[in-house]
Amino acid sequence: MKALSINNLSKTYGNGFKALEQISLDVEQGDFFALLGPNGAGKSTTIGVVTSLITKTSGTVNVFDTDLDENAELAKSYIGLVPQEFNFNGFEQVKHILITQAGYYGMPASDAEPRANELLKQLGLWEKRHTPSRALSGGMKRRLMIARALVHKPKLLILDEPTAGVDIELRRSMWTFLRRINKEGTTIILTTHYLEEAENLCRNIAIIDKGEIVENTDMKSLLNRL
Ligand code: ADP
Ligand code: ADP
Repeated sequence: MKALSINNLSKTYGNGFKALEQISLDVEQGDFFALLGPNGAGKSTTIGVVTSLITKTSGTVNVFDTDLDENAELAKSYIGLVPQEFNFNGFEQVKHILITQAGYYGMPASDAEPRANELLKQLGLWEKRHTPSRALSGGMKRRLMIARALVHKPKLLILDEPTAGVDIELRRSMWTFLRRINKEGTTIILTTHYLEEAENLCRNIAIIDKGEIVENTDMKSLLNRL
């Protein structure tokens, strides 16, 4: 089963800029997959299209065999997204953010409450559960974004540059956490411009540059060639 299948995907922005040109990519269920490329390569655009935040120009995207053009809502329900930028209501309390998110997915309060508590504990945010998110440190905000993305138990977790600007200690603890949930069955795709991160975490990798996939292979073969 493929978690994600992208075929001949192109995106031209309103100003005429071609951010993606005919990219194709498959990610198997259970994989830990890196989309590596320099700034401006098209990583966020790809993630945006897959999560239905950006409209594509042409091509097809399937998430667990659901075509975005046929049922974007179902496809979206399979995905948890950790965006690059913090986008919380800063006045909302940490735990409440998770409960609100669960509500978007129609999760009953009796399920949302224990799920939020579980994630807060796993991600070291339990002590901060009543704190407004604007009072959190940068590292805690990142962990909160991961918790929020996982509330509805998505089969596919997508992280856009998850450790950009994160100190080494938090980076390592995030890596440990991501490895664990991947082992437990969640397919993970992350974007990074940082080979060390891909190398440490990922089994398969695609390299994107100027809107084109220039390499798509398993991590071991890539490292053997470098
Ligand atoms: P679409 O083609 O998806 O409708 P638009 O071209 O209308 O997208 O742009 C969407 C938003 O992105 C606009 O608010 C625009 O200001 C912003 N934007 C424009 N250029 C860039 C850029 N180079 N990088 C990031 N955002 C941009
Ligand atoms: P990455 O995530 O790899 O840094 P992006 O997907 O954000 O790359 O951007 C790819 C290219 O598309 C960049 O050159 C960026 O400036 C451009 N771009 C992104 N958003 C828009 C937009 N809304 N309108 C026009 N150009 C954009």
